[in-house]
Amino acid sequence: MAVIDFHTHPQVAQDDLTPWMEYTRRCGIDRIVLLGDVLGYGYNPDADQIRGINDNTFHLTRRHPDFCVGFCFLNPTLDERVCLDELERCRSLGAVGVKMEASTFASDARLDPILRRLREVRLPLLHHSWNTRAMGRISAPGCYQSDSEDIAALAARFPKVTIVAAHLRPNGLRGIWEVREHRNVLFDTSGGQPITGVIEAAVRLLGSHRVVYGSDAYFPEGRDYASQKACVEEARISDRARERILGLNALRILGEAAA
Ligand SMILES: [Zn+2]
Repeated sequence: MAVIDFHTHPQVAQDDLTPWMEYTRRCGIDRIVLLGDVLGYGYNPDADQIRGINDNTFHLTRRHPDFCVGFCFLNPTLDERVCLDELERCRSLGAVGVKMEASTFASDARLDPILRRLREVRLPLLHHSWNTRAMGRISAPGCYQSDSEDIAALAARFPKVTIVAAHLRPNGLRGIWEVREHRNVLFDTSGGQPITGVIEAAVRLLGSHRVVYGSDAYFPEGRDYASQKACVEEARISDRARERILGLNALRILGEAAA
């Protein structure tokens, strides 16, 4: 079974992932999803910066087509037309989803035109999320931290769009409960510290079809494949659940995107 990492970031102007491809495969990961260098220009990138980030992502997916696919990064606080045009441009370059970070909260109504388009073209959204009771709503000037409550509000408005909420472990048990009734929401396992019990709880409360492995690797720094993947490998879940989390769910989401 192919292992797919659903949450990785290249750096802006990275031209060649060959060294990373070799390292990734040594770690037992076959393919990766590139979400773009989403913080490369700070929390509120302008239209030119967004285009630069996406150009870089899709340059890399064309260079390494057997290794990576790419998401279109958007800043929903920019003009609606700018966002929708950029989404279409990225779709023509092969985008298989949309990524949003911390320019505003996931519950912000400015996301709605983008989500309506995702519903039409059947592409998923991967949105940053964290436990904001611990971190605060605005963790740095201009950095809007989405809570699982924001994800739930968005998912309720768009139940037909697949939404992957980033960072299961720092969302924790409350995060799992917040999204539980919204069956269009999955969590990726990336990020935060390797805390035991959270993946097990997500499998139990959401089902293993709603958890997808990701590392949040940021080449050549950031979170480390080995510790992030080990969280799934060592979780006390069934082998079938592990297979789903490490690859089958990603294939399903990406397959839906391709269809
Ligand atoms: Zn990330």
